[in-house]
Amino acid sequence: MRITRQRPDTWQGPPENFTGTVWIDEIAAPPLPSRLRMFTVRFAPGARTAWHRHPYGQALHVRDGEGLVQRRGGDVEPIRAGDTVWVEPGEWHWHGAGPRTFMTHLAVCEAAEDGTTTEWGALTGPEYPTA
Ligand code: MN
Repeated sequence: MRITRQRPDTWQGPPENFTGTVWIDEIAAPPLPSRLRMFTVRFAPGARTAWHRHPYGQALHVRDGEGLVQRRGGDVEPIRAGDTVWVEPGEWHWHGAGPRTFMTHLAVCEAAEDGTTTEWGALTGPEYPTA
């Protein structure tokens, strides 16, 4: 057993993968054989991810505020505190805050063999809402 009382500094989501201001905290990234990766992600109003996908899927649990999520080919769906989204392995999607409020979610996924958790795609595109 290991108790972590000092975790890495909060970092900002890089502009090539996020629009707006997004702050990320690593909650857990235990060594192999675990592949667990757990983060708290805080989106300012209007901030969101680029399109991306995760090799083993992703659980998003909204802790605070109002947000939006979309899978490729699907509608933009509202999400709010208490909601949990399961994104299927390999499913292209984005997530972020709505226009009015911050949105904070837990993000839980498993890393691939090479340690990667996310394949990034376009930041903007015709499937994005223009708002
Ligand atoms: Mn995701």
